[in-house]
Amino acid sequence: MTFPSLRDDLGTLEGYHSPQVDVPVRLNTNESPYPPPEAFVHAFAEAVASVPYHRYPDRAARSLRAALADFLGQPAERILCANGSNEILQAVLLAYGGTGRRAAVFQPGYLLHSHIARITGTSVVVGEREADFSLDPAAATALVTEHRPDVTFVCTPNNPTGTVERRESLEAILDAAPGLVVVDEAYGEFAPWSALELVADDRPLVVVRTFSKVWSLAAVRLGFCVAPPRVVADLEGVLLPYHLSVPTQLAGRLALGFRSEMEARVKTIVSERDRVGAGIAAVEGTTVWPSGANFILFRPAGDGHQVWQALLDRGVLVRDFSRMPGLEGCLRVTVGTPDENDAFLSALQEATKEAVAP
Ligand code: PMP
Repeated sequence: MTFPSLRDDLGTLEGYHSPQVDVPVRLNTNESPYPPPEAFVHAFAEAVASVPYHRYPDRAARSLRAALADFLGQPAERILCANGSNEILQAVLLAYGGTGRRAAVFQPGYLLHSHIARITGTSVVVGEREADFSLDPAAATALVTEHRPDVTFVCTPNNPTGTVERRESLEAILDAAPGLVVVDEAYGEFAPWSALELVADDRPLVVVRTFSKVWSLAAVRLGFCVAPPRVVADLEGVLLPYHLSVPTQLAGRLALGFRSEMEARVKTIVSERDRVGAGIAAVEGTTVWPSGANFILFRPAGDGHQVWQALLDRGVLVRDFSRMPGLEGCLRVTVGTPDENDAFLSALQEATKEAVAP
Protein backbone atom coordinates (compact mmCIF):
# COMPACT_ATOMS: atom_id res chain seq x y z
CA MET A 1 0.00 0.00 0.00
CA THR A 2 1.32 3.44 -0.79
CA PHE A 3 0.06 6.85 0.06
CA PRO A 4 0.04 9.48 -2.66
CA SER A 5 2.66 12.19 -2.26
CA LEU A 6 1.56 15.72 -1.59
CA ARG A 7 1.38 18.01 -4.64
CA ASP A 8 4.95 19.18 -5.34
CA ASP A 9 3.96 22.84 -5.24
CA LEU A 10 2.41 22.43 -1.77
CA GLY A 11 5.40 20.68 -0.23
CA THR A 12 7.24 23.84 0.71
CA LEU A 13 4.17 25.74 1.85
CA GLU A 14 3.88 26.48 5.54
CA GLY A 15 0.41 26.32 7.08
CA TYR A 16 -1.23 29.53 8.19
CA HIS A 17 -1.92 29.69 11.88
CA SER A 18 -1.67 31.84 14.94
CA PRO A 19 -0.71 29.90 18.09
CA GLN A 20 -3.74 29.47 20.36
CA VAL A 21 -2.56 29.53 23.95
CA ASP A 22 -4.86 29.36 26.93
CA VAL A 23 -4.13 32.58 28.82
CA PRO A 24 -6.32 35.06 30.71
CA VAL A 25 -5.93 37.89 28.15
CA ARG A 26 -6.08 36.77 24.50
CA LEU A 27 -5.43 39.67 22.17
CA ASN A 28 -3.90 37.87 19.19
CA THR A 29 -6.62 37.14 16.61
CA ASN A 30 -8.56 40.40 16.20
CA GLU A 31 -11.87 38.98 17.39
CA SER A 32 -14.47 41.10 19.14
CA PRO A 33 -13.81 41.17 22.89
CA TYR A 34 -17.58 41.06 23.45
CA PRO A 35 -19.95 38.12 22.98
CA PRO A 36 -23.01 38.86 20.82
CA PRO A 37 -25.99 40.57 22.54
CA GLU A 38 -27.95 38.21 24.80
CA ALA A 39 -31.14 38.88 22.84
CA PHE A 40 -29.36 37.62 19.71
CA VAL A 41 -28.24 34.43 21.47
CA HIS A 42 -31.85 33.77 22.59
CA ALA A 43 -33.32 34.48 19.16
CA PHE A 44 -30.70 32.25 17.52
CA ALA A 45 -31.26 29.39 19.98
CA GLU A 46 -34.99 29.60 19.35
CA ALA A 47 -34.54 29.67 15.59
CA VAL A 48 -32.19 26.66 15.44
CA ALA A 49 -34.65 24.67 17.57
CA SER A 50 -37.17 24.59 14.75
CA VAL A 51 -34.94 24.01 11.73
CA PRO A 52 -35.94 21.15 9.39
CA TYR A 53 -32.59 19.39 9.85
CA HIS A 54 -33.32 16.61 7.38
CA ARG A 55 -33.44 19.14 4.53
CA TYR A 56 -30.53 20.85 2.77
CA PRO A 57 -30.18 24.59 3.31
CA ASP A 58 -31.32 27.16 0.77
CA ARG A 59 -28.44 26.86 -1.64
CA ALA A 60 -28.53 30.52 -2.60
CA ALA A 61 -29.03 31.80 0.99
CA ARG A 62 -31.74 34.06 -0.43
CA SER A 63 -33.16 35.48 2.77
CA LEU A 64 -29.71 36.21 4.23
CA ARG A 65 -28.69 37.89 0.99
CA ALA A 66 -31.88 39.93 0.91
CA ALA A 67 -31.36 41.01 4.53
CA LEU A 68 -27.75 42.00 3.81
CA ALA A 69 -28.80 43.86 0.67
CA ASP A 70 -31.31 45.81 2.71
CA PHE A 71 -28.76 46.47 5.44
CA LEU A 72 -26.09 47.71 3.01
CA GLY A 73 -28.37 49.51 0.57
CA GLN A 74 -27.07 47.28 -2.27
CA PRO A 75 -28.95 45.08 -4.76
CA ALA A 76 -29.18 41.44 -3.58
CA GLU A 77 -27.65 40.27 -6.91
CA ARG A 78 -24.36 41.84 -5.84
CA ILE A 79 -24.09 39.84 -2.63
CA LEU A 80 -22.53 36.45 -1.99
CA CYS A 81 -22.17 34.80 1.43
CA ALA A 82 -19.66 32.16 2.48
CA ASN A 83 -18.08 30.38 5.44
CA GLY A 84 -15.99 33.30 6.62
CA SER A 85 -14.50 35.86 4.29
CA ASN A 86 -11.64 33.41 3.77
CA GLU A 87 -13.99 31.22 1.74
CA ILE A 88 -14.83 34.21 -0.45
CA LEU A 89 -11.10 34.82 -1.00
CA GLN A 90 -10.67 31.16 -1.90
CA ALA A 91 -13.63 31.29 -4.31
CA VAL A 92 -12.09 34.34 -6.02
CA LEU A 93 -8.84 32.46 -6.58
CA LEU A 94 -10.57 29.27 -7.67
CA ALA A 95 -12.58 31.26 -10.21
CA TYR A 96 -9.96 33.67 -11.50
CA GLY A 97 -6.59 32.24 -10.37
CA GLY A 98 -5.02 28.86 -11.04
CA THR A 99 -2.21 27.59 -13.23
CA GLY A 100 -0.80 30.25 -15.52
CA ARG A 101 -2.64 33.02 -13.65
CA ARG A 102 -1.25 35.71 -11.32
CA ALA A 103 -2.36 37.42 -8.13
CA ALA A 104 -0.80 40.64 -6.80
CA VAL A 105 -0.48 41.35 -3.08
CA PHE A 106 1.14 44.20 -1.17
CA GLN A 107 3.33 43.42 1.80
CA PRO A 108 3.42 43.56 4.68
CA GLY A 109 -0.21 42.48 4.49
CA TYR A 110 -2.64 39.64 5.16
CA LEU A 111 -0.65 36.48 4.48
CA LEU A 112 -3.67 34.39 3.59
CA HIS A 113 -4.06 36.18 0.24
CA SER A 114 -0.77 34.77 -1.05
CA HIS A 115 -1.25 31.51 0.87
CA ILE A 116 -4.58 30.73 -0.84
CA ALA A 117 -3.13 31.89 -4.15
CA ARG A 118 -0.36 29.29 -3.85
CA ILE A 119 -2.78 26.55 -2.80
CA THR A 120 -4.80 27.24 -5.94
CA GLY A 121 -1.66 27.15 -8.12
CA THR A 122 -1.78 30.91 -8.76
CA SER A 123 1.57 32.74 -9.10
CA VAL A 124 2.06 35.60 -6.67
CA VAL A 125 3.46 39.01 -7.50
CA VAL A 126 4.51 41.00 -4.44
CA GLY A 127 4.44 44.79 -4.20
CA GLU A 128 5.97 46.63 -1.27
CA ARG A 129 4.19 49.10 0.95
CA GLU A 130 5.83 52.41 1.83
CA ALA A 131 7.76 52.97 5.09
CA ASP A 132 4.51 54.21 6.72
CA PHE A 133 2.80 51.05 5.32
CA SER A 134 0.55 52.99 2.94
CA LEU A 135 0.42 52.16 -0.76
CA ASP A 136 2.25 54.43 -3.17
CA PRO A 137 -0.27 54.74 -6.04
CA ALA A 138 2.51 55.19 -8.62
CA ALA A 139 4.39 52.07 -7.48
CA ALA A 140 1.17 50.06 -7.18
CA THR A 141 -0.06 51.01 -10.64
CA ALA A 142 3.39 50.30 -12.11
CA LEU A 143 3.28 46.83 -10.55
CA VAL A 144 -0.13 45.92 -11.95
CA THR A 145 0.70 47.43 -15.34
CA GLU A 146 3.92 45.42 -15.57
CA HIS A 147 2.68 42.06 -14.25
CA ARG A 148 -0.96 42.20 -15.37
CA PRO A 149 -2.32 40.16 -12.44
CA ASP A 150 -5.67 38.45 -12.86
CA VAL A 151 -6.48 39.36 -9.24
CA THR A 152 -5.09 42.24 -7.17
CA PHE A 153 -5.63 42.17 -3.41
CA VAL A 154 -5.77 45.36 -1.38
CA CYS A 155 -6.37 45.01 2.32
CA THR A 156 -7.75 48.16 3.97
CA PRO A 157 -7.60 48.62 6.90
CA ASN A 158 -4.52 46.52 6.33
CA ASN A 159 -3.82 43.55 8.58
CA PRO A 160 -1.42 43.63 10.44
CA THR A 161 -0.46 47.31 10.06
CA GLY A 162 -3.90 48.92 10.57
CA THR A 163 -3.27 51.30 7.66
CA VAL A 164 -6.34 52.73 5.92
CA GLU A 165 -5.75 53.29 2.22
CA ARG A 166 -6.68 56.63 0.69
CA ARG A 167 -9.61 56.53 -1.72
CA GLU A 168 -7.45 58.09 -4.47
CA SER A 169 -4.88 55.29 -4.15
CA LEU A 170 -7.56 52.67 -4.56
CA GLU A 171 -9.10 54.48 -7.52
CA ALA A 172 -5.68 54.66 -9.19
CA ILE A 173 -5.22 50.90 -8.75
CA LEU A 174 -8.74 50.24 -10.03
CA ASP A 175 -8.04 52.33 -13.12
CA ALA A 176 -4.74 50.57 -13.85
CA ALA A 177 -5.44 46.95 -12.83
CA PRO A 178 -6.22 44.75 -15.83
CA GLY A 179 -8.08 42.11 -13.77
CA LEU A 180 -10.22 41.91 -10.67
CA VAL A 181 -9.45 44.12 -7.65
CA VAL A 182 -10.37 42.55 -4.32
CA VAL A 183 -10.61 44.98 -1.43
CA ASP A 184 -10.45 43.02 1.81
CA GLU A 185 -12.45 45.03 4.34
CA ALA A 186 -12.51 42.48 7.15
CA TYR A 187 -12.03 45.52 9.44
CA GLY A 188 -14.02 47.94 7.30
CA GLU A 189 -16.52 48.90 10.01
CA PHE A 190 -13.73 50.51 12.06
CA ALA A 191 -12.46 52.67 9.20
CA PRO A 192 -13.50 56.19 8.18
CA TRP A 193 -14.49 55.19 4.63
CA SER A 194 -15.40 52.07 2.69
CA ALA A 195 -14.82 50.87 -0.87
CA LEU A 196 -18.42 49.60 -0.83
CA GLU A 197 -19.34 52.97 -2.30
CA LEU A 198 -17.17 52.20 -5.37
CA VAL A 199 -18.86 48.89 -6.26
CA ALA A 200 -20.65 49.13 -9.61
CA ASP A 201 -22.00 46.56 -12.04
CA ASP A 202 -19.49 47.58 -14.72
CA ARG A 203 -16.39 47.75 -12.46
CA PRO A 204 -14.25 44.66 -11.70
CA LEU A 205 -14.19 45.33 -7.96
CA VAL A 206 -15.07 42.95 -5.11
CA VAL A 207 -15.35 44.18 -1.52
CA VAL A 208 -15.04 41.45 1.11
CA ARG A 209 -16.41 41.68 4.65
CA THR A 210 -16.93 39.42 7.63
CA PHE A 211 -19.18 38.73 10.61
CA SER A 212 -16.11 37.57 12.58
CA LYS A 213 -15.11 40.97 14.00
CA VAL A 214 -17.66 43.66 14.96
CA TRP A 215 -20.55 41.24 14.67
CA SER A 216 -18.98 39.06 17.41
CA LEU A 217 -19.61 35.90 15.38
CA ALA A 218 -16.14 34.49 14.70
CA ALA A 219 -17.37 31.07 15.87
CA VAL A 220 -20.12 30.99 13.25
CA ARG A 221 -17.84 31.46 10.20
CA LEU A 222 -19.73 33.89 8.02
CA GLY A 223 -18.38 36.35 5.50
CA PHE A 224 -19.67 37.97 2.34
CA CYS A 225 -18.73 40.08 -0.62
CA VAL A 226 -20.33 42.83 -2.62
CA ALA A 227 -19.47 42.56 -6.31
CA PRO A 228 -20.93 42.95 -9.81
CA PRO A 229 -23.57 40.23 -10.45
CA ARG A 230 -21.44 38.56 -13.16
CA VAL A 231 -18.61 38.14 -10.63
CA VAL A 232 -21.08 36.79 -8.04
CA ALA A 233 -22.22 34.23 -10.64
CA ASP A 234 -18.60 33.19 -11.35
CA LEU A 235 -17.90 32.76 -7.64
CA GLU A 236 -21.09 30.76 -7.09
CA GLY A 237 -19.86 28.38 -9.75
CA VAL A 238 -16.81 27.33 -7.71
CA LEU A 239 -18.46 27.04 -4.29
CA LEU A 240 -19.64 23.62 -3.15
CA PRO A 241 -23.39 23.05 -3.26
CA TYR A 242 -25.10 23.81 0.07
CA HIS A 243 -21.85 25.16 1.48
CA LEU A 244 -23.57 27.52 3.90
CA SER A 245 -25.36 25.70 6.73
CA VAL A 246 -28.83 26.68 7.91
CA PRO A 247 -27.55 27.82 11.36
CA THR A 248 -24.94 30.00 9.65
CA GLN A 249 -27.57 31.62 7.44
CA LEU A 250 -29.86 32.14 10.41
CA ALA A 251 -27.12 33.65 12.55
CA GLY A 252 -26.29 36.22 9.90
CA ARG A 253 -29.90 37.16 9.27
CA LEU A 254 -30.69 37.55 12.96
CA ALA A 255 -27.48 39.46 13.71
CA LEU A 256 -28.45 42.17 11.22
CA GLY A 257 -31.38 43.02 13.50
CA PHE A 258 -28.87 44.26 16.09
CA ARG A 259 -27.42 47.12 14.11
CA SER A 260 -27.44 49.72 16.87
CA GLU A 261 -25.70 47.32 19.28
CA MET A 262 -23.06 46.63 16.63
CA GLU A 263 -22.54 50.33 15.97
CA ALA A 264 -22.20 51.00 19.70
CA ARG A 265 -19.49 48.33 19.90
CA VAL A 266 -17.60 49.89 17.02
CA LYS A 267 -17.66 53.21 18.89
CA THR A 268 -16.43 51.63 22.12
CA ILE A 269 -13.66 49.68 20.38
CA VAL A 270 -12.53 52.72 18.37
CA SER A 271 -12.29 54.86 21.50
CA GLU A 272 -10.45 52.06 23.35
CA ARG A 273 -8.16 51.71 20.34
CA ASP A 274 -7.21 55.37 20.62
CA ARG A 275 -6.64 55.03 24.36
CA VAL A 276 -4.51 51.89 23.94
CA GLY A 277 -2.55 53.53 21.09
CA ALA A 278 -1.73 56.49 23.33
CA GLY A 279 -0.83 54.10 26.17
CA ILE A 280 1.58 52.16 23.96
CA ALA A 281 3.14 55.38 22.65
CA ALA A 282 3.79 56.44 26.26
CA VAL A 283 5.98 53.38 26.88
CA GLU A 284 9.55 54.53 26.38
CA GLY A 285 11.23 53.56 23.15
CA THR A 286 8.06 52.17 21.56
CA THR A 287 6.91 52.99 18.02
CA VAL A 288 3.20 52.74 17.29
CA TRP A 289 1.41 53.08 13.94
CA PRO A 290 -1.99 54.73 13.46
CA SER A 291 -4.76 52.15 13.05
CA GLY A 292 -8.17 52.23 11.39
CA ALA A 293 -8.96 48.72 12.65
CA ASN A 294 -9.55 46.89 15.96
CA PHE A 295 -5.87 46.18 16.47
CA ILE A 296 -2.62 48.13 16.73
CA LEU A 297 0.84 47.41 15.34
CA PHE A 298 3.76 48.53 17.49
CA ARG A 299 7.49 48.02 17.83
CA PRO A 300 8.57 47.75 21.45
CA ALA A 301 11.96 48.77 22.71
CA GLY A 302 14.37 45.84 22.88
CA ASP A 303 13.91 42.50 21.18
CA GLY A 304 10.35 42.10 19.89
CA HIS A 305 10.14 38.38 20.42
CA GLN A 306 11.48 38.71 23.95
CA VAL A 307 8.81 41.30 24.72
CA TRP A 308 6.15 38.97 23.22
CA GLN A 309 7.36 36.19 25.55
CA ALA A 310 7.49 38.52 28.55
CA LEU A 311 3.86 39.57 27.83
CA LEU A 312 2.85 35.92 27.59
CA ASP A 313 4.58 35.23 30.91
CA ARG A 314 2.22 37.86 32.35
CA GLY A 315 -0.83 36.16 30.86
CA VAL A 316 -1.22 38.43 27.82
CA LEU A 317 -1.10 36.89 24.32
CA VAL A 318 -0.49 39.21 21.36
CA ARG A 319 0.62 38.37 17.82
CA ASP A 320 4.34 38.14 17.17
CA PHE A 321 5.40 39.58 13.80
CA SER A 322 8.92 40.33 14.97
CA ARG A 323 10.57 38.01 12.46
CA MET A 324 8.45 38.88 9.48
CA PRO A 325 10.22 40.75 6.67
CA GLY A 326 9.24 44.41 6.78
CA LEU A 327 7.87 44.10 10.32
CA GLU A 328 11.08 43.29 12.19
CA GLY A 329 10.61 43.68 15.93
CA CYS A 330 6.87 44.35 15.64
CA LEU A 331 3.95 42.99 17.64
CA ARG A 332 0.21 43.39 17.05
CA VAL A 333 -2.34 43.72 19.80
CA THR A 334 -6.10 43.36 19.35
CA VAL A 335 -8.21 45.93 21.16
CA GLY A 336 -9.93 44.12 24.03
CA THR A 337 -12.28 45.11 26.83
CA PRO A 338 -11.10 48.09 28.93
CA ASP A 339 -9.88 45.66 31.63
CA GLU A 340 -7.97 43.53 29.12
CA ASN A 341 -6.45 46.67 27.62
CA ASP A 342 -5.33 47.86 31.07
CA ALA A 343 -3.80 44.44 31.76
CA PHE A 344 -1.98 44.60 28.41
CA LEU A 345 -0.68 48.14 28.98
CA SER A 346 0.70 47.40 32.41
CA ALA A 347 2.24 44.12 31.20
CA LEU A 348 3.83 46.04 28.32
CA GLN A 349 5.43 48.53 30.74
CA GLU A 350 6.96 45.69 32.73
CA ALA A 351 7.90 43.57 29.69
CA THR A 352 9.68 46.52 28.07
CA LYS A 353 11.64 47.27 31.23
CA GLU A 354 12.68 43.62 31.38
CA ALA A 355 13.67 43.54 27.68
CA VAL A 356 15.85 46.66 27.81
CA ALA A 357 17.39 45.94 31.23
CA PRO A 358 21.17 45.58 30.97
N1 PMP B 1 -9.25 39.17 5.87
C1 PMP B 1 -8.47 39.69 6.82
C2 PMP B 1 -7.66 40.90 6.50
C3 PMP B 1 -8.43 39.12 8.10
O1 PMP B 1 -7.62 39.64 9.02
C4 PMP B 1 -9.22 37.99 8.36
C5 PMP B 1 -9.22 37.34 9.73
N2 PMP B 1 -8.01 37.15 10.32
C6 PMP B 1 -9.98 37.47 7.34
C7 PMP B 1 -10.01 38.09 6.11
C8 PMP B 1 -10.78 36.22 7.49
O2 PMP B 1 -11.81 36.35 8.35
P1 PMP B 1 -13.00 35.31 8.39
O3 PMP B 1 -12.67 34.15 7.49
O4 PMP B 1 -13.13 34.95 9.82
O5 PMP B 1 -14.18 36.07 7.87
